[in-house]
Amino acid sequence: MAEPTESAILEALKTVTDPDRGGDIVALGMVGGLAVKQGNVHFTIEVDPQRGQTLEPLRKAAEKAAGSVPGVLSVTAVLTAESKSAPAAGTRAAPQGAPRRELLPDVTAIVAVASGKGGVGKSTTAANIALALVAQGLRVGMLDADIYGPSMPMMLGIHDKPSSPDGKRLLPIEKFGMRCMSIGFLVPPDTPMIWRGPMVMGALEQMMGDVEWGPLDVLVVDMPPGTGDAQLTMAQRVPLAGAVIVSTPQDLALLDARKGLNMFRKVEVPVLGIVENMSYFVCPECGERSDIFNHGGARRAAEQMGVDFLGEIPLDMAIREGIDNGRPTVVADPDGPHAAAYMAIAAAIWDKVGGAGGTPAGPEIVIE
Ligand code: ADP
Repeated sequence: MAEPTESAILEALKTVTDPDRGGDIVALGMVGGLAVKQGNVHFTIEVDPQRGQTLEPLRKAAEKAAGSVPGVLSVTAVLTAESKSAPAAGTRAAPQGAPRRELLPDVTAIVAVASGKGGVGKSTTAANIALALVAQGLRVGMLDADIYGPSMPMMLGIHDKPSSPDGKRLLPIEKFGMRCMSIGFLVPPDTPMIWRGPMVMGALEQMMGDVEWGPLDVLVVDMPPGTGDAQLTMAQRVPLAGAVIVSTPQDLALLDARKGLNMFRKVEVPVLGIVENMSYFVCPECGERSDIFNHGGARRAAEQMGVDFLGEIPLDMAIREGIDNGRPTVVADPDGPHAAAYMAIAAAIWDKVGGAGGTPAGPEIVIE
């Protein structure tokens, strides 16, 4: 199908009316940054910061209108508000429903590792990145925020229950030089857990606020998979310094990773970059490399989406065996090529969130 044109998109957006101002959003000059690439449409809708919270239906209507143009595969509309007084470098204007900073006051940078869907190796990547940060001499914690399917006990080979010397706060479990917490430490592995919306946030808040994390340079949060309400709430409520999106090459083709990216953009969390996992396969017998999943998709997609490409990790039996037996690659084979790849990714992340002076960088514009 032919590539949709910018003018066709603008034409469609003229059908969307600003409920307060009465005109269409194109005539009112609210549409900006329109980009159309291979059927993927991005634009911003400039709004008054005061109205940001009430304009979600307008944003949705605009996405729907643009999505109705033939040939459009995906649409991302982001509400933006030029900050009246530009935030000073290194600070971010607090979004409404601001994250509760007091949850983790002694943590310099909280980094979320997320994915658009499950099974892409998000937890594996999060654990190896966290351990690579430990290897770089940082004080690291790791929180398994996947309360539906906690994987940390298996991945890190942790079978102990956390203790609580004062009966109020839990001590995290120390493993491989980092502090770890997972709902899986508290609930036997085969217990079915049914969580209703508010309970999810309650459990996560407890795992942050009621755990004696102590001072940390970085807390790596292994986010629940997907981009549903629980994830969005988590992204909104936890004071994240940034998010890393893990994706497989084919997942990017299916746009799942973009959903993850957009979720963070919506709540004004800087996306630190994309890691392509299961990027290519090296045959253990002959050493031949096969690009089974259309290798390189993540790098291209990152470019298109305007985020950094942090690195690629191959599909390798050793990575799977390590993580499934409680010894992630970075500790099982610290001098190997995979550990080196994780180390480089971790260094890039630390550089972005805290390495250069300890102040997380913030975006120039405020996205409501
Ligand atoms: P997610 O957190 O996205 O659901 P996991 O990290 O649990 O995914 O990984 C899913 C499965 O894929 C696990 O069995 C894991 O060992 C395996 N896996 C993840 N990354 C790799 C890789 N780079 N090479 C080989 N196996 C991998």
